[in-house]
Formats: sequence, C-alpha cells, structure tokens
Amino acid sequence: MKTIGLIKEPAFETRVCLLPKEVKRLIKDFGINVLFEPGFGRQVNISDQEYREAGATARPAHKIFSEANFITSLNSVYEGQEIGQECEFLGIYNFGYFPGRTEVYLKPGISVSSLDLLPRTTIAQKMDVLSSMASLNGYKAVLKAAELLSESIPMFTTAAGTLRPLKVLVLGAGVAGLQAIATARRLGAVVETFDVRTSAGEAVKSLGAKFIEVYGSSESETAGGYAIDQTAEYQRKQKALIEKHLRTASMVICTANIPGKQAPVLIDRPAVDNMLPGAVIIDLAAEQGGNCELSSSGKLLQHQQVKILGDSCLSRQLPVSASALLSNNFYNFIHHMCTSKRTEDHLLKACSVIENGTIVHRSLQHHLK
Ligand code: NAD
Repeated sequence: MKTIGLIKEPAFETRVCLLPKEVKRLIKDFGINVLFEPGFGRQVNISDQEYREAGATARPAHKIFSEANFITSLNSVYEGQEIGQECEFLGIYNFGYFPGRTEVYLKPGISVSSLDLLPRTTIAQKMDVLSSMASLNGYKAVLKAAELLSESIPMFTTAAGTLRPLKVLVLGAGVAGLQAIATARRLGAVVETFDVRTSAGEAVKSLGAKFIEVYGSSESETAGGYAIDQTAEYQRKQKALIEKHLRTASMVICTANIPGKQAPVLIDRPAVDNMLPGAVIIDLAAEQGGNCELSSSGKLLQHQQVKILGDSCLSRQLPVSASALLSNNFYNFIHHMCTSKRTEDHLLKACSVIENGTIVHRSLQHHLK
C-alpha cells in the first residue's frame, strides 16, 4: 500500500468515504501517502485545511489518478482518465445489479474491489458498508414517512379524547427493516413485520413488533443469510397476507431485497388502491426495482391518496453520520488489506471484481468480454 487518492464524489453524493480522523490513522499506522482533490470534504463541511492537518496532500484530480495506487470512493469516480502503471479502485459499486458499471475499468493495470460484496460474517462486520448504510436508511425511512403523514404516531390520551397509535408495516427484517421497527416503536407505533426468512422472527419480536408469517418459505444455508427466490405457491399466499395487513397500515417501510437481483414486488397497484387514504410508503428497494410496483427510484409520487417515496439511499440525508460510519468501514477494510495476504484472504477475494483489467468475480464471469 503506497498512495491512496481521494477524488470528489459525483454531485448527487453528500457522503464521503474517508474523514480526516481515519486519514490520520492510515498515515500513522501504515505510512500511507494520502492525496485528496480540493473540496473533497465540502459536503460534510470539512475543509481542505482539516485534511492537510491530518497529513494528506491536496492535488488536482488528474494528478491523483496518475500518482495513486488506490483510489477510494463511494460511487464510481473513474471516467477513463490516465492512471499510473497500476491502480486499484475501492468503492461500493453494486456491480451485481449494474454489471455495465464494470466496463470503464476493463483496462490493463486496473483492479477493482467493491465493498458491498463482503460476506455478512462476524469478522467482516467492522467493514460492512451495507449494514452501516442500511441502519441509517431504516431509521431515516421512518422519520421521512412521519413527515409525510398527516397523522401523529403514538397514542395520545388528552382531555379532548384519545388518538390511537398508528400502525406501521415493515416488509423485510434485515438490517434496515430492524432499524425501521426500532425507530417506529420508539415513536410509539404498533408495528407488524413480514420477512420470508422465518429465522428473522425472533429479532422482530424482541423489538416489540408482531411477526407475520407465511408458512412454507425456503431458506438456504448457502445464501449467507440472504433470502432466496420463493415458489409460486408461496408467493401467492404471501401476496394475500401482505394485502390484508396493508389495508390497515398508515406507514409502510419496504426493505425486502435479494442482493444483485430485482427486488421482489410485494405491493401491486390494486393493493395500493385498497390502502388507507393518507398512507405513506417508503420504498428502500427502489434502486433494484422496488417492492411496490408503483415506486420510482428518487421520486415522491402520489397514487390516489397514498404517497410513495422510492429512495434506496436515505443515508445521503444524514451525511455526517453516514460518513462517520463509512470512514470507519473503509479504514478497517484498508487495515485488513495491509495486514492480510491477498491471495489467501477470503474477505479480500470476495470483494475483488476486476484484477488487472479482467473480471475475476464468479458472479460476473458471464459479463467477461
Ligand atoms: P437484504 O437487504 O438483503 O434484504 C432485506 C430483507 O428482506 C432480508 O431480511 C430478506 O430476508 C428480506 N426479503 C427478501 N425477499 C423477501 C420477500 N420476498 N419478502 C419479504 N422479505 C424478503 O438484507 P440485509 O439487511 O442485507 O441482511 C441480509 C442477511 O445478512 C440477514 O440474514 C442479516 O441478518 C445478515 N447480516 C449478518 C451480519 C453479520 O455480521 N453477521 C451483518 C449484516 C447482516
């Protein structure tokens, strides 16, 4: 590990991958040289001076591309610029769902590792960017929905009468779903949750939510804890059960996903037609097609009297918290790279997508040119 480059993220991004605190640690712990493009921290109100004080050096972007051995970022920042002899890009690229994003990197000397491919194991937890962002997404989804509602959430007992607590339905009880449940419960909502993985039921109940279950789901021990596709019969029963619970929910938080694949559609148009007037759906799976047939990524829509927000990256609305977690995740990943033998380490191998211009990740081999 020699020189790490930090290039400004695209305009839509509010978060950064490394903060001055972790830059300082990288320099101190591993003698790494860190270059940054001026204005790198502007979105989180961190000045160039703070990066300089941490030990990094400001450089124009084209110089960073040609001098750095590693370029870390959240989104793809490479557009074919000239690089030095060898350069490895570290980021969160979701190549499984967007394989076309690999193309710009298929050049001699370029390698790419994508941190969203880390296995969800205990040892990888401190580098797990997906969990970090999912927690914030789940939390923010409930706050966002609360803003869009025209009703209060907890039970209010007043001299003028009693307001009943609001009902929230959470679809998917992974990291984002569990955080959404916890947040909705803290706000005093009555929460119901559905997940295909029956093993998620215990965690759901421990947060004080009701677990609604369709019997006969499949879970696979080889899917690393992720959900797998379900049978047609199961899907039919699941649709009927979700529709029943949707009719009485004022807030619906959709988090159901299968990595690298189209998200399962759990709410179709007729189901939305039957929802309560004023209800709000927040679809965190929107980037991968959405759990609601009507949602559109990055848009707030209204169908009849139901508001539907499609946003898979609400953590962008919490840039300071998100950057603090991401910066730790990236520091830990780089720490792991510096202290492990690359060819033998299963975490590094799991994240490695392109080596020296060639796709090496099994799940993307079909995309090989
Ligand atoms: P995810 O984003 O892949 O999916 C979200 C949830 O949606 C999952 O719980 C999934 O079961 C569910 N889902 C998928 N299809 C569905 C459908 N048709 N209907 C209803 N629900 C559906 O999940 P995630 O938050 O990334 O977590 C994935 C797994 O990894 C979970 O088992 C989680 O506990 C585990 N995990 C482990 C660690 C660790 O350190 N050991 C860390 C994070 C996550």
